[in-house]
Amino acid sequence: EPLTIAIDGPSGSGKSSVARAVAQRLGVGYLDTGAMYRAVTWWCLERGVDLADTAAVAEAARSLPLEQSTDPSSPAVSVGGTDVTEAIRTSEVSTAVSAVATNREVRPVLQALQRDLMARISDATGGVVAEGRDITTVVAPDARVRILLTASEEARLRRRSTELHGSADAAAVEATRDQVLRRDRQDSTVSQFEDAAEGVVLVDTSDLTLEGSIEAVLDVVAG
Ligand code: C5P
Repeated sequence: EPLTIAIDGPSGSGKSSVARAVAQRLGVGYLDTGAMYRAVTWWCLERGVDLADTAAVAEAARSLPLEQSTDPSSPAVSVGGTDVTEAIRTSEVSTAVSAVATNREVRPVLQALQRDLMARISDATGGVVAEGRDITTVVAPDARVRILLTASEEARLRRRSTELHGSADAAAVEATRDQVLRRDRQDSTVSQFEDAAEGVVLVDTSDLTLEGSIEAVLDVVAG
C-alpha cells in the first residue's frame, strides 16, 4: 500500500519545510497544493483576469498550463513554460491569492487535479506527502497518514517574520502581524484549524525546532 501522507495547517506552522523534509527522508514525492492556488493567481494577474470574476478565474484554473516539480529537494513551479517558483511568493500574489482560494468554482477544479497528481506521484515513488489546507479532509480523507500541524499565534508570527523580514525582533513581528492575521481571517472562510478532524493527528510545533517538528511527524508516520 502506498505511503500517502496528508499534512494541513495554517501559515507559519512550519508545514512546507516539514512536509518537504519528511518526503525527502522517506524517499517519496511531494505536492505543494498552496503553490497551485498561487499559480492560478499569478496567471490571472499576468493575463489581466479580474479576480472578482469568479467564472473567468475558474476558467483560468481549468486551462492553467501548470508544470510542478514533485521532487521535494527542488520544488519548482512553471506556468506556460515560465518559471514562476519565485513569482508566486511575492506579496502581490500572497495578497491576491485568497480571492482565488475562496472561489467555489476553482476549488473543485484544483482538488480534482490534486487527487490525480497524488495518485500519479504515489505510483511513481511509492508514496506522496501532500500539504495544504484541506488535504486531510477533502482532497485525501483516505490518506494513510493525516496530520494537522498547528502552532500558537506567537510562534507563527515569529516564523513568518523571520521569513518575510529576516528578523523576529519586535518591529518586524508587528509588521508581520497585520499581514498574517488578515490572511488567516480570509482563509477561515475555507477551513478552520482549531480542531483536527476525526482520525487526524494534531502536532503542535509551537515549542519545536524544525528538526523536532520533522521528527514528530516521522514518529506519527511510523505509528
Ligand atoms: O500555503 P500557501 O500560503 O502557499 O497557500 C496559498 C493560499 O492558498 C492560501 O490562501 C491558502 O489558504 C490557500 N490554500 C487553500 N487550500 C489548499 C492550499 C492552500 O485554500 N489546499
